[in-house]
Amino acid sequence: MDVPLREAPYRFTGGIEVNANKDESTADRIRHTPIPGQIILPLRQHSGNAATPLVSIGEQVLKGQLLAAAHGSVSANIHAPTSGMIVAISDYPVPHPSNLSDTCIRLIPDGMDMWIERPVTERDYKNLDNQTIIEIIRKHGIVGLGGAVFPTEIKLKNSQDNRISANQKNLPDLHTVVINGAECEPYISCDDKLMQEYADDLLEGIGIVLQITGAERCMFAIENNKPEALRFVKQALREYNDARIELYSLPSLYPQGGEKQLIQSLTGKEISPNGLPLDLGYLMLNVGTIKAIRDAVIDDMPLISRVVTVTGDGIKFPQNVMAMLGTPVSELIEFCGGYKDKQQLHQLIMGGSLMGISLHSDAVPVVKAMNCVLVSTRKNTQPKQALACIRCGECAQVCPAGLLPQQLYWYSQAKNYHEAQRFNLADCIECGACDYVCPSHIPLVQYFRHAKSEIRQRDEQIRLAEQAKMRFEKREQRLEKIATQRAERLAAKKARTQKLASKDSSAIDEIMQRVKQRKSSNTDRNNSGDAN
Ligand code: SF4
Ligand code: SF4
Repeated sequence: MDVPLREAPYRFTGGIEVNANKDESTADRIRHTPIPGQIILPLRQHSGNAATPLVSIGEQVLKGQLLAAAHGSVSANIHAPTSGMIVAISDYPVPHPSNLSDTCIRLIPDGMDMWIERPVTERDYKNLDNQTIIEIIRKHGIVGLGGAVFPTEIKLKNSQDNRISANQKNLPDLHTVVINGAECEPYISCDDKLMQEYADDLLEGIGIVLQITGAERCMFAIENNKPEALRFVKQALREYNDARIELYSLPSLYPQGGEKQLIQSLTGKEISPNGLPLDLGYLMLNVGTIKAIRDAVIDDMPLISRVVTVTGDGIKFPQNVMAMLGTPVSELIEFCGGYKDKQQLHQLIMGGSLMGISLHSDAVPVVKAMNCVLVSTRKNTQPKQALACIRCGECAQVCPAGLLPQQLYWYSQAKNYHEAQRFNLADCIECGACDYVCPSHIPLVQYFRHAKSEIRQRDEQIRLAEQAKMRFEKREQRLEKIATQRAERLAAKKARTQKLASKDSSAIDEIMQRVKQRKSSNTDRNNSGDAN
């Protein structure tokens, strides 16, 4: 079957052309890292609640065994990446901008890499009903690997609910699945390598998602700076022969990989600031997530490893590696030849240079969200002195969310959060495009992140104060009710006492009356006796 390669017909609002810096890490195939010396698995690796541990210290576990169960409506299971012994469940440094520690399960591998029992043959998903497939995805702890880390089972369930309730809500049916292979952020190339080396698997994963959602169409989108990925996917599609899957090439533009931006590029449709692709009948999944879905459903494989790009001018041999979750970043760096010069090391970043977060140490483990470890030197990341805003308006021109970053900067700097909110600060996706073009080198995103966190804190304080006020009012009402009940009880008691007292006094009167009568009858008798 001939597979046409379509050009994306539209262009999203704003955006910038950046130096991709991906060549360094794409020269070799993905290499598997060895079993690490220790594995540290944070219980919170996904959106929502932390998972609840199911194992205890000293327990021997097998590869693929469930170690911690999803807790609450938004959460995901965590499995053992290899066999070994649980030695601790306590706080360890985790890859998070707060630099705080979090509860983790620490496992010392035994080197045997022994699996728990799994089906010997590949599962034929076409014979499974949708609920069973979604349950397999839930059981295997699959989350979005494109950055959001949202449990995939919920996304798929929502898409099914959308189908059921579309008519009632006046929404279109889910008609199209979009596969995000854009990978627009500089330095990161893990999705590129995945598409090159696992194109057949990705098409199987798409087949599963099309079956679950009932969507009639799939748009597979890849930026045109990944010609090898486009070539391999096209070749695989030729053999897979499914006319529902269309391949799209996009011009390389940052932040094309954002959900709303990609849908705008492919369809020309804009999703409202608080809206979701589902509102327009689209479901978007990243290529890494699609591969994880395929491995869970067909090979019964939980999410226990992922591809990580280890790159930057501070690492000896930049490359993509398949690493077990929980592997300390220091071991990944060792595997890639180590630091070029630790004295020159400036920053360790999880993610790309624009949206990544700074890591405080290489002791933190690989987590489900870790697509890239960027090692940069002083030479490359010397911060530039911020100057005054010259009101050039460059930032507004590149903002993909259609915001006015200059205004947001003024209000954030002045702590005028009310105005910042009025100028839609919440719609900022923190892409850093405005930062990138600002001739005054103003760290705009830092201001926006800070303002957002202040607003969150303020809102939380307001929420807590309202809760306290409600508790106080309820207590007052309770006390008032108790006082009224007590007063009513006292009044009733008093009434009873009075009633009794009046009953008593009439009884006394009666007695007195009888005594009086008896006395007078005795007197009469005596008098009559005297007379006799
Ligand atoms: S790009 Fe920088 S200098 Fe220009 S208006 Fe925006 S904040 Fe000001
Ligand atoms: S960081 Fe926010 S304000 Fe700046 S360009 Fe991106 S979305 Fe717009």
